[in-house]
Amino acid sequence: MHHERGQHQVFCGLTGIIWLHRKIQDAFFLVVGSRTCAHLMQSAAGVMIFAEPRFGTAIIEDRDLAGLADAHRELDRVVTRLLERRPDIRMLFLVGSCPSEVIKLDLARAAERLSATFSPRVRVVDYTGSGLETSFTQGEDACLAALVPSLPATTDTTPSLLVVGTLADVVEDQFRRQFAALGIARVDFFPPRRSTELPAVGPATRFLLAQPFLRDTAQALERRGATHLPAPFPLGAEGTRGWLQAAADAFAVSPATFTAATAAAQDRAERALAHYRPQLAGKRVFLFPDSQLEPVLARFLARELGMTLVEVGTPFLHRAHLAADLALLEALPTTTRLTEGQDVDAQLDRCRAARPDLVVCGLGLANPLEAEGLTTKWSIELVFSPIHGFDQAGDLAELFARPLLRRQRLAL
Ligand code: SF4
Repeated sequence: MHHERGQHQVFCGLTGIIWLHRKIQDAFFLVVGSRTCAHLMQSAAGVMIFAEPRFGTAIIEDRDLAGLADAHRELDRVVTRLLERRPDIRMLFLVGSCPSEVIKLDLARAAERLSATFSPRVRVVDYTGSGLETSFTQGEDACLAALVPSLPATTDTTPSLLVVGTLADVVEDQFRRQFAALGIARVDFFPPRRSTELPAVGPATRFLLAQPFLRDTAQALERRGATHLPAPFPLGAEGTRGWLQAAADAFAVSPATFTAATAAAQDRAERALAHYRPQLAGKRVFLFPDSQLEPVLARFLARELGMTLVEVGTPFLHRAHLAADLALLEALPTTTRLTEGQDVDAQLDRCRAARPDLVVCGLGLANPLEAEGLTTKWSIELVFSPIHGFDQAGDLAELFARPLLRRQRLAL
């Protein structure tokens, strides 16, 4: 394992709003920031146009810098107008940014004040999406960690399962059916689809992480008495099987029930992967540190599709949460350079020297590398797309096969 420090190129945590607002359907994300933050949100949201958008930016104007009292008054005014106009909003996130932090605008105090004004209709929660020293997926971690104190407490001693991390609704429904087939009766997902359905948490809660970037959320849940179930992450057939197996073990599901509940879906996943293996096996892939999904993706690409890992970078490595995936990576016959952190220039030099077949990287690096004749895949797409579970294994493989196919066609 190598550690690198230096210049890095990543989006900030505000980006998480793009997938979080789609999941929690009665929430609104109000970024308290500058025009730069508003532009980032617009360009990250791309072409998505909503009749009633569920995120926006309260712009901190230059004059707000003159007095914090004015900034608080202005924020109250913006929030009041928003909530009057939008009775569908039941949860409001005040999302901090670099500018709100620079002027030391106390959003926790603002959230408390606004919660008192608008409760019980609207719950107001604050978290920060800022940061040049963070990776863009940390925005989700900060959001969910800020929500954990709002989860109802339970002293029920019957074990229940909590799946933690934003999943596409279609994937959540598939997992619900799979857990039901395993006989695990009490299953909740966090975040839920509606803020009024926050799951209860207590000492009998067992939780599975669906994403590898939820360090603070996991710690907050553990402080509430919940127990983490170590597992590989549910990407690909192997990862999904291991993830479901961890739940099955914790809930004493018999091997026969496990096989009956999972065999058909696993078989479908393996057949879907077999379709892509001829295109991907032996291809050399270089993963830049961006989403924190990289070690999990590397495990999937190498073990299930036969790709050769040139380098695997990740902005942060949570060794405990990633232990199962790292063990599977280490079991490969070849060793791979694993780097935590980034020195982007040094890494670009290594990438250019290696001339991999496929580079997985952030948006900022993709265009220049494409111009140099390298084939790239935007890592942010892997966070936006439904990729978890048996039934998405083939789609996940296709996300890597497609750019290679495009390059081949261009070459022809
Ligand atoms: Fe830029 Fe900071 Fe705003 Fe993110 S929060 S868009 S890094 S100014």
